[in-house]
Amino acid sequence: VWNNCLSIIKDNVSHQSFKTWFEPIKPLNQKGSTLTIQVPSQFFYEWLEEHYITLLKKTIKKELGPNGSLEYSIIMENNYKNNNKSLSVKVPTTNKSAVKNPSVSMPYEVGGNKGIKNPFIIPGLKKVVVESQLNPNYSFENFVEGECNRLARSAGYAVASKPGGTAFNPLLIYGGVGLGKTHLAHAIGIEIKNNHPNKTVLYVSSEKFTQQFIDSVRNNTQNDFVHFYQMIDVLIIDDVQFFAGKEKTQDVFFHIFNHLHQTGKQLVLTADKPPVEMQGIEQRLLSRFKWGLSADLQVPSLETRIAILQKKMYTEGIELPNEVVEYLAYSITSNIRELEGALISLIAQSSLNKKSITLDLAKEMIDKFVKNTAREVSIDYIQKVVCDYFNLPIELLKSKTRKREVVQARQIAMFFAKQMTKSSLANIGAHCGGKDHATVLHACKTVNNLIDTDKRFRNYIDDLEKKISIQ
Ligand code: ADP
Ligand code: MG
Repeated sequence: VWNNCLSIIKDNVSHQSFKTWFEPIKPLNQKGSTLTIQVPSQFFYEWLEEHYITLLKKTIKKELGPNGSLEYSIIMENNYKNNNKSLSVKVPTTNKSAVKNPSVSMPYEVGGNKGIKNPFIIPGLKKVVVESQLNPNYSFENFVEGECNRLARSAGYAVASKPGGTAFNPLLIYGGVGLGKTHLAHAIGIEIKNNHPNKTVLYVSSEKFTQQFIDSVRNNTQNDFVHFYQMIDVLIIDDVQFFAGKEKTQDVFFHIFNHLHQTGKQLVLTADKPPVEMQGIEQRLLSRFKWGLSADLQVPSLETRIAILQKKMYTEGIELPNEVVEYLAYSITSNIRELEGALISLIAQSSLNKKSITLDLAKEMIDKFVKNTAREVSIDYIQKVVCDYFNLPIELLKSKTRKREVVQARQIAMFFAKQMTKSSLANIGAHCGGKDHATVLHACKTVNNLIDTDKRFRNYIDDLEKKISIQ
């Protein structure tokens, strides 16, 4: 009978689904019009009931007559290895409205909104609810938009409104440490939960995924592992570069990826590099990473850094003098996590020592805070100090204007940038009104000459040097 059922089912589902969900089923026995089948896990049972209940009902009735019903025998997950105990779950396949004998009518909703409502209270067999593992603080609301994240953010937003329904599948977000990959990945998950409460969303780090897989191999529950991941609607995997060199993990992820992608489920991945630069990842996975959209997160601009600090201050309910906020934003340029860390330590310091947060305290703290990471004064910061000193708007310094007082301030800024940063001459020039490297060299020479010949000028330079260097 089951074989007949299978051939009907085969014609009604995709090849992949058939292989995944029907081939592993074993017919156990048939009593009257009740057929008992064995399924590998609770997930499996729930999946069948959620996705194939109509088909199963039709098929069973066709083969076993109008009273035909199906019983599942689930191999208990926890005892899988120890004693292979199996457990029967009787599932009425008759429709609620069509139930003749009310005593078998269960509060069981076929294809109910919230997925399966399991009416059976079975000791030891818990209904599996997938906890999304999302951090509510990492929302879109708390994610400051800037030029640096515009593409990734809007692609994330699109995916969140139509998971699985955009060309961005997978959506791969990549970028350096502390630039917001994890935050954005959570934001997408949270937004999907808001828009589509019935979708099963799961955030998992690659480390955790790998560990779970290793455990499943050890416990001989690989099938459960795979089935679990295959029933997720939106799978978010953070830091996939961690899969590098882990062949077995890549293998199982490859199959899960394929299954999800084929069934229209959404994948969101993050990595520290774009696929072309990833090492130690199998080609076939890399090529799949490129199927959808790869969007990068870049280093935020000064304005975005300030906006991020302000947002953070707002959510923490604190206020800081503008000059302190600017100073932080000027000093920590390439890692948002450090930027936030500096802000938090500053607040902690001030409340600990009952000092108010002044620029001096900020300077003192920043120096301790960022001591171990290679840090240099930024060109932006030099420009700001020079402009403050000469009372010029910074826009003028960055412009092409040849006004005398601006030209000299600009030359001084170039001189300090050359001395105090590792920036190339070309980069310094680009920051200072789009000048080329020869102009920068010329500026340095001019300033050096003036230092040697003009005492007043040398005083300016000494003054400025003290102000710029962060001690
Ligand atoms: P990554 O995963 O890329 O290393 P995270 O997502 O952990 O970086 O981000 C580091 C910190 O910076 C987090 O606290 C995060 O909330 C914050 N952050 C990153 N990008 C933004 C942004 N655009 N707006 C607000 N906070 C951000
Ligand atoms: Mg991260």
